Amino acid sequence: MSLRFFNTLTREIEEFRPVDPGHVRMYTCGPTVYDFAHIGNFRAYVFEDLLQRHLEFRGYKIERVMNLTDIDDKTIRGCRAAGVALSEFTRPYKNAFFEDLDSLRIRRADHFPEATAPNHIERMIEMIATLIERDCAYRAEDGSVYFRIGSFPKYGALAHFNLDELQSTGRVRSDEYEKEEAGDFALWKAWDEADGDVWWQSPWGRGRPGRHIECSAMATQILGPQIDIHCGGEDNIFPHHEAEIAQTESVTGVPFVRLWMHCKHLLVDGRKMSKSENNFFTLRDLMERGWTGREVRYVLLAVKYREPLNFTFESLEAARKALARYDEWSRRLEAMASANAEPVPPELNPEKFGEALDDDLNISAALGAVFELVRDSNRLVDAGRLTSGQARSLLAWRERYEWVLAFSAGEEGVPDDVRDILTRRAEARAKKEWALSDALRDQLLATGWQVKDTKEGQKLSRKG
Ligand SMILES: [Zn+2]
Repeated sequence: MSLRFFNTLTREIEEFRPVDPGHVRMYTCGPTVYDFAHIGNFRAYVFEDLLQRHLEFRGYKIERVMNLTDIDDKTIRGCRAAGVALSEFTRPYKNAFFEDLDSLRIRRADHFPEATAPNHIERMIEMIATLIERDCAYRAEDGSVYFRIGSFPKYGALAHFNLDELQSTGRVRSDEYEKEEAGDFALWKAWDEADGDVWWQSPWGRGRPGRHIECSAMATQILGPQIDIHCGGEDNIFPHHEAEIAQTESVTGVPFVRLWMHCKHLLVDGRKMSKSENNFFTLRDLMERGWTGREVRYVLLAVKYREPLNFTFESLEAARKALARYDEWSRRLEAMASANAEPVPPELNPEKFGEALDDDLNISAALGAVFELVRDSNRLVDAGRLTSGQARSLLAWRERYEWVLAFSAGEEGVPDDVRDILTRRAEARAKKEWALSDALRDQLLATGWQVKDTKEGQKLSRKG
C-alpha cells in the first residue's frame, strides 16, 4: 500500500509522491528564539519527527530544514529590554531549544538556518527586489516594502479564504501572528526607533526583513524552488504559509510545495494554553516536576496530528504506565531470546503498525497495534508457549518500531517509584511545603538516589 497524507491545500487525502522518487525535501517552520519553546510548539515538532521517522521507516531519504527565527518584533523587543545585542539575547534560547529536542528524542534536521545569517539576508533582499521589479511589491510612504496580494490571484487558496474579503482589510506592518490581519504584508520593514541598532542595509534604506520572507528565502536557498512537504502548526497556515506561497511562486514561477501538512493545536485541561491562565508549560516546567522527556514525547506523539491534543497530567500518568509496560515487555523478551535460536516469527501480525502510519500517520492505530502485540506475546509467555526464536523475532520487530517511536528506556532508567517520589517532591516544593520536601529527599536517598535543587529544577543522580 502507498503512503497517503492529508494535504491542507487540496483538503484531500493524497497518495504521497515526491518530485524525485525516494528522496524527500522537507521544510518545517522552527521556533522564534525569544523565549523557551512551550509544549504546544513541541507538539508540532514531535509530529514532524514522527513524519520524518516514518518516511525513513518506509525507505525514503529525507533532507530536512528547520529554520530558527532570530529576528522579528518579539526578538527585537526582548533584546532591547535586556539591553544586549540581538545575537546575545537569542543564543541561550537557541541552545535551550536544542537541549529540548534531545530530551524529546526529536531527530535533528539536516539544516537549521538562522534568518540573520548574511547569505540569507542577501537572498531575502534579492527576492524582494525581484518582486518589486515584477510589480508584485511596492514601497510605501513609510519606506517599508509590501507584497501586493492583488498581484497573486491564488492568494488565500491554502487557508481557503476569498481574496476580495482579504483586500478590503488593508495592509499590515506587524509580523506577530496574533496581531496580523489579512491584507498586504511587509516584506521589508523600514527602520524605526523601536528597532534600536538592529538593522541591515538594503536598496530601500536601513531596515529588516518581514517574518514571512525569511522562510521563503531559506527554503529555496537550501532545498531549491520546489519542495515535497512543508509542515507547521495550524496557526502557521494564515498568514505565514499563505504569504510564503505568494512571494515564492511570484519569484520562481513554479509551484512551491507539493504537500502541506499542519498539526492541530494543543489544549491544556481543555483550555487554550496561556500564561495568564496558569496552564502554560515549557518542557522544562514538566521536567522540573519529575516527568521525563520520553514521557512527554509519548503524550505529544500519541494523538493523531489532525486532532486537537488535550494535554493533562492524567495523560502523563497514562504515558508513564504505557512506557512501563513497554519496558517490561522488552525485558521479558530479552530474557527469553537466546542468541543461538533461529528467529521464528510467531503467529502475530507485525505489519499493522506501519500500515496504520501509512494511512495519514494514524498513530493511535499504530500504538494500538504495538500494545496488542505486547498483550498477545505476554500471553504466550505466560502460557509457556513462546519459544526463544519467537522472542528473537519479536525483538527484531520492536527494533523496527523503535526507529519510529524512540520509546526505549535508554539512559533514563529511573525506576517508576523513584520518579513518583520526585514528582511528589516537586509538587511539595511548588507549595512551599519544605518539611515534606526534605522528607521526600531522605526517602530518595534511602532508595539510592540523590537529588540536587538547581535553577533548572531537581537534578537526580545515583548515590555515589
Ligand atoms: Zn516559516
